[in-house]
Amino acid sequence: MLNSIEMQHHGSSARPDIYDLTGPEPRQSALFFETPAEIYARVLKDLKPRTPLPEIRVEYRRYANANSSIRLEEGLLTVKIADILEGAPAPIVESLAYILLGKLYRRPVPRKYSHRYRLFLNRREIRQKLQLVRQIRGRKFVSGPQGTSRNLEEIFERLNLQYFDGLLGRPHLGWSRRVARGILGHFDPSHNAIVISRILDDAAKPLLALEYVMFHEMLHLRYPVDHTGVRRCVHTQEFRRAERAFARLAEAKEMLKKL
Ligand SMILES: [Zn+2]
Repeated sequence: MLNSIEMQHHGSSARPDIYDLTGPEPRQSALFFETPAEIYARVLKDLKPRTPLPEIRVEYRRYANANSSIRLEEGLLTVKIADILEGAPAPIVESLAYILLGKLYRRPVPRKYSHRYRLFLNRREIRQKLQLVRQIRGRKFVSGPQGTSRNLEEIFERLNLQYFDGLLGRPHLGWSRRVARGILGHFDPSHNAIVISRILDDAAKPLLALEYVMFHEMLHLRYPVDHTGVRRCVHTQEFRRAERAFARLAEAKEMLKKL
């Protein structure tokens, strides 16, 4: 993935970010005997000790993602959680309760909960489950390669010849649905698709910027991501080294900052 924010502080946050789920943190043993609804009740009491408890309903839904939502209406608190989280360990259910109730009541979420939850989502078996439900349930929108001013297939094949000896298999190529300034490009391995921000489908924007974003995503295709920590978009040393082969790299990076 390539985003414009990253472009603005490249190289600064490369430290490994690996934590242990089973750290020496004390846990309440009650946790393991609670139902999800009881966990939400306890967390709510912790956040708002003087608020009378609403009726609480926790539902697991068949989603094509790991999203969850919370709603309080007429004394009924409804929590909807993606079913890939069904059966998650109690500390994870508790962490999500702090996140969702924090959102509902505009309270800051203690880092240990947000971190623990994120770490769980990034575990190999969860990522595999997610990838599977996306393939089965999700129909991701990928437009064709032809944009209004630019054709992604042409650019892909030109870069393929120039930098990969024409050997990269062509994935689905498409433009993002919205004109995103944040994420400029994204390689999605579960759909074998490279999606480029529509902001670059513009004859007035330098072609070099688009070529560089495409090249970057092609490298993700070439060097599968190493998921070792919390950060999802990992640029290994090997990746960075390969990226330096791009002609006019510094110039292209400068252009992205000015899009
Ligand atoms: Zn990237």
